[in-house]
Amino acid sequence: MKIVKYPHPALRTPVKPVTTIDKEIVLAAGRMLELMYASDGLGLAAPQVALDAQLLVMNFAGDPAVKDQEFVAINPQILEEKGAVSDREGCLSFPGLYQNVRRFKTVRVRAYDLKGEPYELICHDLPARVWQHEIDHLAGVLFIDKMGSLGRSRSEKDLEKFVADFEKDKKKGHLPPGLEPKL
Ligand SMILES: [Zn+2]
Repeated sequence: MKIVKYPHPALRTPVKPVTTIDKEIVLAAGRMLELMYASDGLGLAAPQVALDAQLLVMNFAGDPAVKDQEFVAINPQILEEKGAVSDREGCLSFPGLYQNVRRFKTVRVRAYDLKGEPYELICHDLPARVWQHEIDHLAGVLFIDKMGSLGRSRSEKDLEKFVADFEKDKKKGHLPPGLEPKL
């Protein structure tokens, strides 16, 4: 399992709800947490590892030692959203790209944990931003879609570079994971 980068098609493909929390999902969540911490991320969504499941991992402190800030979210939903705030945002699938993105300041979310127990949270500011960013991933929506026109134009060069690198990798025969022929 590895983190795929823009413009990998998995990032644009909406994923399916999890119907059974089996060993595979538990193992995937564990590996995603490891990858997230190794990359100094605050959140990682299943499409970013080309996995077809509504599964997220997050740690709002970005610190594996701070367990009360660590969340695994299965089939997450935003139930309520309030206010607005613009702040710098990045994404592990767009290394090095940061731009201001406008998000709801407060969200109420519901998700299931790895035991299948539902939980609800009210989050503000950074944790609310992480939830919105990660839940967007499950629908194939990326933070570049949520940037204002200024952020979008400032990102153009980076995006062109990501596309060029991706095409180069493809030509070398390194098919992105998830696109290998399934026989
Ligand atoms: Zn992201």
